Parts: sequence; structure tokens; C-alpha cells
Amino acid sequence: MISLNIPQHLHTFLKAKVKHFIDNHAWNIPACLLLAYPDLHSLTANITIPLRDNVDRLCWKHSHHGDLTMKDSYSFHCTTGQQFNWSKIVWNIDIPPSKSMVVWRSLQNKLPTDECLALRGCHMPSMCSLCESDLESNQHLFLTCRYSQNIWNWLSSCLNFNCQFNDLKEAFVLCNSFWSPLCNLIVVDAIVNCVNFIWFARNQSRFNDKKIHWRSLINHIIAAVSLSGNNSCLKAKSNISVFVLLRKFKVKMNYGNAPKIKEVLWQPPILNWIKCNCDGASMGNPGSSACGGLFRDANSSFLGAFSYNIGISTSLNAELIGAMIAIETATSKGWSNFWLESDSMLVVLAFSSAKIVPWALRNRWDNCITLLSNMNFYVSHIYREGNHCADKLANLGLSLQGFKWWNHIPQGLQGDFVRNRLGMPYYRFS
Ligand SMILES: [Zn+2]
Repeated sequence: MISLNIPQHLHTFLKAKVKHFIDNHAWNIPACLLLAYPDLHSLTANITIPLRDNVDRLCWKHSHHGDLTMKDSYSFHCTTGQQFNWSKIVWNIDIPPSKSMVVWRSLQNKLPTDECLALRGCHMPSMCSLCESDLESNQHLFLTCRYSQNIWNWLSSCLNFNCQFNDLKEAFVLCNSFWSPLCNLIVVDAIVNCVNFIWFARNQSRFNDKKIHWRSLINHIIAAVSLSGNNSCLKAKSNISVFVLLRKFKVKMNYGNAPKIKEVLWQPPILNWIKCNCDGASMGNPGSSACGGLFRDANSSFLGAFSYNIGISTSLNAELIGAMIAIETATSKGWSNFWLESDSMLVVLAFSSAKIVPWALRNRWDNCITLLSNMNFYVSHIYREGNHCADKLANLGLSLQGFKWWNHIPQGLQGDFVRNRLGMPYYRFS
């Protein structure tokens, strides 16, 4: 009604359902309506009409399933909270939460340093309890104080990495990702413990009149990091720089498991059966998408293949459309014993649970399921390594316009095709 620019006050008078305009699986729109609304023809042309009689259903077009959920409306109304790039790094399952808490308070400027208390109206003479020569502020205490500088210099020498930060947040942003998981934990844990023990030394000096030398503080830090590191299940790569780092913090090497090697073999169908391998390809999600598939018989002979450029779509849509074209082609060719194979587990699952299929494809999907009820049908999953032929057809589709049917094996596919035919395996490393 909105697409046809029908005024709002007339909407309540429009009682007819979509099914009233469908007759014998084809659109049956009165000529007067088509005359009044010429756009109607182009709007209905791309809609798949169900083979079965279905009841009308309203769809929420912005969602995957077509339903408007409480979650959708909640996320629309509620603005997301503050996003910090360091927050996920500070809170770590292998670091005690009490220590993360101190760092979190320090990063938010919430620790009761003299500067912070003064900001809240609690004015008193200020002196750093560690160097006794400067005012105490968050910045001074944790970064620029002589005492803290000794700790950071020591950490720089351990990590072989400059730990002179202008802001503590920089420390957490820098220490992400370029180490192996166990080393990354050690680096984060070392920084967290440095902050914690500097705060501990400050409190000991201020409230218990106990001066802790920075060298003994380093021993505390090493002991704490060693405890977390040795209790973690994270793995480390075995190279010399990792080994040196782990030795410095007295953490045992936790080697990763050896890679598992799986043999992936393409199987031809049994006699009188036709097998189709299909696949989708997407340059982004959503992005420019295409699908492809090829049909083979029990002798592994080539019966035909297709590539289809879908345009801008999601990777799931591309995989599903590939499977649907395969089924429609098998029906039109009269292949009643049909085996479909995909490297997408979601496509295989969609045959048992239609909820996986987005609402926009649901009519066509239901029609395919109806077609399959007259056939002997089997669907299976194969690893990507065994589905190279279909993958290449889908990639060919990305550079095509619309649909293309191949009567001969396309160039670039012969190698994988012959390999499949001879029963030569592919290998999967995980
Ligand atoms: Zn100081």
C-alpha cells in the first residue's frame, strides 16, 4: 500500500488478502487495478508464488525470520553503552577480578588519589607517597613517578618493547594480538600487576608507613604473573622470543596440539543417481554474491553446471539459492534420484529446520521442498576442500551477469574435476 502511494485513510477499506489475487499458482490481478497502478506489475513479477496453498502472513522485513521480536525493538530503542577498546582486555578469565578492578578504576580515574579526592571537594596537602617529591595524581602515580618509572623500565626490558606510556590506556591497546595467546595473557597480566603493585606500595607507604623497594615489588609482580600463567590453558608457539618471555615470568611452556590432518574424498553417487555439488561465494556479508553447482552421475561424468550472479546478498542467501537452483534443475531434467552436497552446514540443516531460511527466500524454499516430496532425495555435507569444483563455479559467477549454464566443463575446473573422478583425496588441516 505504501509502495503504491495509496492514501493512509483508505488502508482500512482494503480487505482483500494476497491469496485473493492468486489463481492456479499465477497472479490474477484485475485489469482495472493494473491500469490504475502500473507499478503493480513490476512489484509482483519477482515474487515466488507458493505451490501449496498458504495463509497470508505479515513479515517484518528488517529481520531474518520475518518476525518482530522484543530483542529487535529493545535494541532499536536503547542506545548502546560506552565502548572502550581496552575493556575486554582488562577483564580476563585468567586474571583475578580484584586486580582487574583496580586497573579499571585507575583507567576511569576513580582511584582515591589526592588529585581525585580534591576534585570531589576533599582538599588536603598532596604528596606522592612513593617519591615524596611531587603532587599525587593518577598520571604521576602510575606513569611519571620515579618509582613507577623503575617498574616500567624493568617491564620494557622483559618484553623487549617500549613501555613508556603517556596514558595507561595505550598500554592495553598496544599489547593486543601480536603475541601468541599465552604470551598475550602474560603481557596483559604483567601490566595489570604493575598497576596493582604500584597502588599496593603507595598504600603501604601511606597507611602502614612501610616502604617497599621497587626491586622487591618486581618479585611480587613475577610471582603473580607466574601463578596466572601456569594456571592458564592457553597455548604458546615454540619460538625463542616466547621461550625467553616465559622464562622471565617463570611460566611453563604450554605447547599447542599437533594439527589434525583429515582426508577429504569426493564420492560419486550410486547407479541411477545424480549428484550435485553446490556452493555460494560472497565478497563481504552482505556483498556481491554468486552461486554455482555441477551435476555428475555414477561414472563421475559431467552432466552440466551452472553459475549465477545474485547481486548484493549475504553468504547464506548465496548458499541457499545455489541449493534451490540445483533442486529446480534436477526436477526440470527429470532426475528423480537426486543427491545434493554442500560445504555449508546451514544448508544441510535448513532441510530439517526451515527457520534457518530467511523469510525473503521462504516461498521458493517451500516450493523446492514440495518438489523433493516426489523424488528420492539425499543431502550431505562435505568439507570445503572436497567441494573445489562447485566453489570455482560460484567464483566464476561473481564475474558473470545473471545465470549461465555450462554444457562443457569450464576452463580452470578440469584439474579438480579429474582429481575427483580418479578418487584422489584432498587434505584438511585443523
Ligand atoms: Zn611520585
